[in-house]
Amino acid sequence: MDSAEILAQIASEVSTCQACALYHSRKNAVPGEGPANSEIMFIGEGPGFYENEQGRPFVGAAGKFLEELLAQAGLKRSEVWIGNVVKCRPPGNRDPLPEELAACDKYLERQIAAINPKIIITLGRYSMGKFMPNAKISAVHGQMRRIGDRFVIAMYHPAAALHQAKYKPDLITDFARLPKLLEQARSALAKSAPAPAEEAQEEPKQLSLF
Ligand code: SF4
Repeated sequence: MDSAEILAQIASEVSTCQACALYHSRKNAVPGEGPANSEIMFIGEGPGFYENEQGRPFVGAAGKFLEELLAQAGLKRSEVWIGNVVKCRPPGNRDPLPEELAACDKYLERQIAAINPKIIITLGRYSMGKFMPNAKISAVHGQMRRIGDRFVIAMYHPAAALHQAKYKPDLITDFARLPKLLEQARSALAKSAPAPAEEAQEEPKQLSLF
């Protein structure tokens, strides 16, 4: 299976999943969407009212704001992958519980492996917690950290910035830096990429003793 087929397979499994209690309140599961070869994955918290209605991520006011922030960074929504740490709506938009996060993580892990993005951008505390368990978002937002084969940047959730204006300037600044950070990530990952096959197959050079 190629990456797009793997993502479709995951979306199909998510639509009938009953691995945690959130399936009871689900109208439509929201597996996430975007190109299978996205360089950037945005990971939010969980579906809200409109997302649950439509089965698509970030379609309400926060989604509109996210699209404005992307445009400011010279990116289109259709160029990036967007999803959440839990795929079904928590009742009343409550925070996801630890057991729900744990149950749903397997899908996100498979999505990350299939897409293999250069940068993961976490939106809000819950997705940040997956990659930087003890970090405070106020201290680390906008900073790019290498974690394994990719980079992770924590940012405030667009919905938080809409509800509390104090977060908005930081979120706008962090998005404005995204083109530069993406260039840095591309360059760093290219330098650390394995050698091409023909070079890797060269005879090892003899070591000189002098
Ligand atoms: S939130 Fe995730 S683990 Fe829970 S039922 Fe939905 S898809 Fe399954």
